[in-house]
Amino acid sequence: TTEKQTLGFQAEVKQLLQLMIHSLYSNKEIFLRELISNASDASDKLRFEAINNDALYGNDHELKIKVSFDKAARTITISDNGIGMSRDEAISHLGTIAKSGTKEFFGKLSGDQQQDAALIGQFGVGFYSGFIIADKITVESRRAGLPASEGVRWESGGEGDYSVEQIEKTSRGTDIILHLREGEDELLSSWKLKSIIRKYSDHISLPIVMQKEEWDDEKKETVVKDDLETVNQASALWARNKSDITPEQYDEFYKHVSHDFQSPLTHTHNRVEGRSEYTQLLYIPAKAPFDLWDRNKRGGIKLYVKRVFIMDDAEQLMPTYLRFVKGVIDSADLPLNVSREILQESRDVKVIRDGSTKRVIGMLEELANADEQEKKDKYQTFWTEFGQVLKEGIGEDAANKDRLAKLLRFASTANDNHEQITSLEQYIARAKEGQDKIYYVTADNYIAAKNSPHLEIFRKKGVEVLLLTDRVDEWMLSFLTEFEGKELVSVAKGGLDLGALEDEAEKKEHEETETAYKDLVEKMKEALTDKAKDVRVTFRLTDSPACLVADENELSGNLLRMLKAAGQ
Ligand code: ADP
Ligand code: MG
Repeated sequence: TTEKQTLGFQAEVKQLLQLMIHSLYSNKEIFLRELISNASDASDKLRFEAINNDALYGNDHELKIKVSFDKAARTITISDNGIGMSRDEAISHLGTIAKSGTKEFFGKLSGDQQQDAALIGQFGVGFYSGFIIADKITVESRRAGLPASEGVRWESGGEGDYSVEQIEKTSRGTDIILHLREGEDELLSSWKLKSIIRKYSDHISLPIVMQKEEWDDEKKETVVKDDLETVNQASALWARNKSDITPEQYDEFYKHVSHDFQSPLTHTHNRVEGRSEYTQLLYIPAKAPFDLWDRNKRGGIKLYVKRVFIMDDAEQLMPTYLRFVKGVIDSADLPLNVSREILQESRDVKVIRDGSTKRVIGMLEELANADEQEKKDKYQTFWTEFGQVLKEGIGEDAANKDRLAKLLRFASTANDNHEQITSLEQYIARAKEGQDKIYYVTADNYIAAKNSPHLEIFRKKGVEVLLLTDRVDEWMLSFLTEFEGKELVSVAKGGLDLGALEDEAEKKEHEETETAYKDLVEKMKEALTDKAKDVRVTFRLTDSPACLVADENELSGNLLRMLKAAGQ
């Protein structure tokens, strides 16, 4: 239809808008960053589609973003000549939230403003942040390739609904017109807008232009001229020299590529030459996204070829167990028309993936092995958020298994809490004289692990045991059977061999006890014929009368429970 239509927002959008306006007010300047970020994404998309269809550019090849304001009308306008939106796209992109993790996000909201503000940040604010400072937003857009008559105007007061109508739009791309709320007039200043752009959007690789302002001697005031000036550096951040980039610029660039609101934990930025030439700028987020466990999740690596954006979520560039890494990889070798299928088979891609994997592991090692407390704390934060995912690497990435094993952290009987802070190296350093094994117990949770009767003998002897309670642990342990020459042994399995930890006197005592109880054991075996495979005298218990153990070569009790729960 060409008629003006009024449509209702998806319920989640309404909820998000309400929350955002109230809880993000103290961060209101970010609206400009979000809208410029969208304009930049739209230009990247156009460039990409135009690789195979140059006609999309029409006679307008110079991509840029323009920010302007109108004091009398009290509006700020952000314009781009990127891909634009059709009527249907405007409805689906601006009227609904299509993100993965949406359900989890809304499930976590508490009603507490401060807590929820942090959650929104993590979820990503995007287009709707315009409503923090505007009580009406008008979007006028025309998708590249559509005729001027098929423009669309989308308009909303940011409450329950919005309108869409067909308009004539002479230029390709999108204009976002913000009608300022009462009291936001300080934003109607060239100086103010420029300083916000320089602060948050300097890293954008397209020029962000504004009209020049000059002092007029006759009028005794500054007047806005027709000439444009570029406000940002307008070069791809990752292609600049490290020494020319400030920590703030690295942070803001992260927020742009990741759609995250918080600063990252750390980053690595390298230009790699050799068999394959590429630049990588990779970040570790400070917080796990809502959709870390979602199979359809949007991945984190944007692929560029010689500065041209090719695709989001280039999953071939990073192994699955590093799916939390965000950033940009810019290849000098891949063809511009590279597809996901080609990426799958490309040897260049394999070289890039291997190199990037090593860089990420190196970045983690740097935090984990640092002397500074600040970095150590960062590693602990990383481990709490992403440790369970990193563990997948033990099984998936044989080539880097040893390095990954050193990055593992566990809860342990050496500490009196559930925090996973013990590394295998620390465990070995603390091991008893003559202890040639690494002992662990697996359980559903920390309390169960800590109170396991299997630990009694270890407590008595003062031997440390690692307490493993994550779902992936059992699976991981099937790939991690030894570390630096020491076998990893479950304290709940088979005839526990304490090796040199047992002295001669103890061994003798044990033999005598076994003989003394021989008859009783035989009777119990008979009584439990179809319930237990074997009955043995044990010395691993000090307080409990009996415990169940799995055979050396069999699945442990915990894994059996997991498999049963999974219906196998
Ligand atoms: P995100 O950028 O994380 O996808 P946003 O809320 O910022 O989320 O934007 C929602 C969607 O609206 C974008 O994914 C895009 O499809 C569309 N959009 C927003 N701004 C523009 C624009 N300037 N040009 C084209 N499409 C846009
Ligand atoms: Mg956005």
